[in-house]
Amino acid sequence: MSENHCITLKIFLKDKSGTIKVKKYVVNGDTYTITNFTSFREKLSTAFPKLKDVDIKITWEDADGDNIALENDEDFRLAFTEMSGSLKTLSVEILDSKPALLCELDVICDMCQKRITAYRYKCLQCRDYDLCKNCEYTGYHSDHVMLRTSTKELFVKYGCKIVDQISKVIE
Ligand SMILES: [Zn+2]
Ligand SMILES: [Zn+2]
Repeated sequence: MSENHCITLKIFLKDKSGTIKVKKYVVNGDTYTITNFTSFREKLSTAFPKLKDVDIKITWEDADGDNIALENDEDFRLAFTEMSGSLKTLSVEILDSKPALLCELDVICDMCQKRITAYRYKCLQCRDYDLCKNCEYTGYHSDHVMLRTSTKELFVKYGCKIVDQISKVIE
């Protein structure tokens, strides 16, 4: 008997602003991969780059309509056993990330996915959105207020406090 599974996951991703994004993807793997929490978390970060290094809450709705938290392998095994059919629906909620996360020295442009080396344009309306000089100039994300900062240590030290304060005013 083959242990290989092919299940379709429907993920409801809720970010900090309450926006819900739905994505569907197929997981190919053995039962272990699917029910292993760590490996699932890795797959999730690949499917949604935003979820890398942030705290998230994963839940699923059982037959009674209750939201059950998925926190370990056992939770996953139970959830996938109880959810009938090959389509599994999970909800992922991004929890408050620590402000320190906003101020990393190594920043990747959310548009071109390249490491930002010169000017860093930080969105003051999104929780964690940065653009490089080229992508900002092209006009991406132009409907949001951006702050030109740097990737230098001085910004990392003080800039996150400033960004946090301005973000609060805009909210
Ligand atoms: Zn870019
Ligand atoms: Zn934005």
